[in-house]
Amino acid sequence: IVRMARVNKHFGNLHVLKDIDLEVQPGEVVVVIGASGSGKSTLIRCINGLEEFQQGHIEVDAKELLPDGKSARALQKIRTEVGMVFQQFNLFPHLSVLDNVILAPMKVRGWSRADAVETAERLLERVGIADQSAKHPGQLSGGQQQRVALARALAMEPRLMLFDEPTSALDPEMIGEVLDAMRELAKEGMTMVIVTHEMGFAREVADRVIFIHQGEIVEQAPPERLFDSPQNERTRNFLSRVL
Ligand code: ATP
Ligand code: MG
Repeated sequence: IVRMARVNKHFGNLHVLKDIDLEVQPGEVVVVIGASGSGKSTLIRCINGLEEFQQGHIEVDAKELLPDGKSARALQKIRTEVGMVFQQFNLFPHLSVLDNVILAPMKVRGWSRADAVETAERLLERVGIADQSAKHPGQLSGGQQQRVALARALAMEPRLMLFDEPTSALDPEMIGEVLDAMRELAKEGMTMVIVTHEMGFAREVADRVIFIHQGEIVEQAPPERLFDSPQNERTRNFLSRVL
C-alpha cells in the first residue's frame, strides 16, 4: 500500500532522508525506531504529504506523490485515506469530543450528521471513552485525548494509519491505555506505520522494525531478529542505549 523509492529530502543544506526505499504491505505493522533527529518524523510525514521531498517517488494506495509537491490531486486523495496521530493530540479545543470525531467525515466524506454520529459513537466506545463524548478536549486526560485523536482518525475509515510518537507526551500511567487501543487496531488488521520509543510494544505488535540513522535505513527485520541479533553496529549501539 506504500512504496517509497529512492526518496531524498533536504531542509536547506541538511540532507534528512537519504535514498529511502520502503514498502509497506496491506495489513502490515511497521515500527520505525532511531535516535532523535534521525528523520523518523520526516519519513512518515512524507507518506501523507505533510512534507515535500526533492527526489524519488512515493506511491500510496496506487496514487503517486512527486518531488517538490507536484501532485496536488493525489495529495488530496491520500490525505483522506491516510489517518495520522501525533505526539501532541492536535484536537480542536473549542469542539466537543463528539464534534471532533464527526467533523471530517461530514465535511470531507459528505456523511449525514446521523451517520457520522453513529460511527463516532461506535469508535469512542471501541477506544473506551464513550462516556466522554460531550466534554471538550481540555477536560480530558492526555491518554483520553489521544484516544479521541485515534477515534477521529479512524472515523475517516483510513486504509493506512501513521503514528508519530503517540505516547511520548503522556504520563506513564496513561501510556498503556493508548498502546492497548493501538494493539487492538493492529489485531484487526489495520496497516500501520508507527514511530515509537516503546520497544516492548514494538517487539509485540510489529511485523517489521526499521532502524533509521542520520536519514538512512540502516537495518530492517522482524522484531525478534532486529532486537535480539542486530546485524549493524549502529543498530547495536542504538539498542544498547535504549533497551
Ligand atoms: P525526534 O525523535 O526528536 O522526533 P526525528 O527522528 O523525528 O526526531 P525529524 O523531526 O524527522 O527527526 O528531523 C530530522 C532532521 O531534520 C533533524 O536534524 C531536524 O533538526 C531537521 N528538521 C526537521 N524539521 C525541520 C524543518 N522544518 N526545518 C529544518 N530542519 C528540520
Ligand atoms: Mg520526531
